[in-house]
Amino acid sequence: MSNKLLEGFEKFVTEEYEGNDSVMQKLVEEGQSPEYFIISCIDSRANPGTIFKPKPGTFFAFKAMGAIVRPYKQGTALAASLQFALEYMKVPKLILIGHTQCGAIKALADGNDDPEIASFIDVAQLGLKRAKERMTDKGADVSDDLLREAEKQIVLQSMENLKSYPPVAKALEENRLEIRGWVFDMSAGAILEYAQATDKFEPITTLKPTQQGKCCA
Ligand SMILES: [Zn+2]
Repeated sequence: MSNKLLEGFEKFVTEEYEGNDSVMQKLVEEGQSPEYFIISCIDSRANPGTIFKPKPGTFFAFKAMGAIVRPYKQGTALAASLQFALEYMKVPKLILIGHTQCGAIKALADGNDDPEIASFIDVAQLGLKRAKERMTDKGADVSDDLLREAEKQIVLQSMENLKSYPPVAKALEENRLEIRGWVFDMSAGAILEYAQATDKFEPITTLKPTQQGKCCA
């Protein structure tokens, strides 16, 4: 049933457990000290564990549909995870990464009526509204351009919401936390980062430049 997973696991063991100075042995003996906390979508194509090709111990991973972060509420999975990572592990970099062709954002824009899904993604209506306001074509249709803009605006809204989490606010106040908002452009194979100076998401990766012009305009 799980051959694909176990084949991958065996490759991982071969790569990361071999030799006296193996990465995993060191992490087991000395414990972890990850540099990043990454919040991403549950999408199987945008998994940070895949797209960043990380060594073990690189980041804490948190996933939510659409990489959507709701405002702080005590007792949620994200609140507890951030408390542990920022307050006790002192992780210095927090990355929130959305992605293009995101099914959750499309469901929001299309008005998905599954109560379980809608009751989670509805909090991102504000990001969708901001995206609509930024469109020159105000047509009622859900266009690809609107979805691309919504994916970005919802990352920004989630970044604002992140600041309502006490460990995030505290770490920012103590000047020991950097927060970045990224979008993984799946068709172009590029990472875009929000730049305050231009109020735009700009490519920060250099591969495939011919396609980046198309994706990031
Ligand atoms: Zn997604």
